[in-house]
Amino acid sequence: AIPLVVAVSTTLSAKNGLLIRNRTAFENARKIDTVLFDKTGTLTEGEFGVEAVETFTDDYNKEEILQKAASLEQESEHPIANGIVKKAKTDEVELLKVDDFEIMKGKGVIGKINNTDMKAVSPGYLEENNIEIPNDALKEGPFTEVFLLENDKLVGMIRLADQIRESSYEVVKKLKDKGIKVKMLTGDNQKTAEYVSNELGLTDFFAEVLPDQKQQKVEELQAEGDFVAMTGDGVNDAPALAKADIGIAIGSGTDVAAETADIILVESDPLDVLKLIDFGSLTFKKML
Ligand code: ADP
Ligand code: MG
Repeated sequence: AIPLVVAVSTTLSAKNGLLIRNRTAFENARKIDTVLFDKTGTLTEGEFGVEAVETFTDDYNKEEILQKAASLEQESEHPIANGIVKKAKTDEVELLKVDDFEIMKGKGVIGKINNTDMKAVSPGYLEENNIEIPNDALKEGPFTEVFLLENDKLVGMIRLADQIRESSYEVVKKLKDKGIKVKMLTGDNQKTAEYVSNELGLTDFFAEVLPDQKQQKVEELQAEGDFVAMTGDGVNDAPALAKADIGIAIGSGTDVAAETADIILVESDPLDVLKLIDFGSLTFKKML
């Protein structure tokens, strides 16, 4: 039988936007001393708009940069890809056929257009391959830059902007007021991560974390003795959600994240992590 206090608080939680998939995790919320947040789609809206398109060669005008990038991104479901394709559609840019398309997890996409090898990639990918990033390409702010390569030569760039969720500011402050460490995990570049971290006043952040490494980060924090709640929305976050002491999925996120998590934030509001901690503690106290 389910103790009455648990039943009541589960109902209370449901009314407050918390879907409890694992009751033990819920009751353990009082032990949380670190909340780890994914950036894109969790602390930020995860909806990218195109801010600027730039060309670095006379062989391409800006529209052609957008055209090639959007053509490559058609097959990707990444929020970055959605932003680029949407811009091409708004501008009525015709999308081209892509052969041999592949996703380079956490780095970008690759494919052939008219038999030419094209890539749309992160700044981290350029660094890894010793391709120089043009001065001032990486702008300070909530921006993510995607670089277009033709036969591994840099030809252009698209700058996208995502917005920090309004309630992220409040949740960070209130968690810290409770003495809880608030850290961020992101595949995005160091500069963007640093901006978001400073904006929100995070305890710490980890940037350019590849999809396979997110779960490892959780393990590292646990090894330091922390009781870790991980909050995320993406397919990439699922292993980390599973590894965390408490896995929390954003409701608007991917099914994989929701199916892996202990708790789902139905309203997709990071602020509801606070309710989880309050209700979870309450339930535990009443059961004693
Ligand atoms: P996160 O889920 O934290 O946003 P990802 O691991 O999905 O990070 O992606 C990390 C980085 O890889 C992105 O910030 C971006 O620079 C690059 N990237 C991922 N997918 C794409 C894509 N479809 N097109 C271009 N760049 C991409
Ligand atoms: Mg995300």
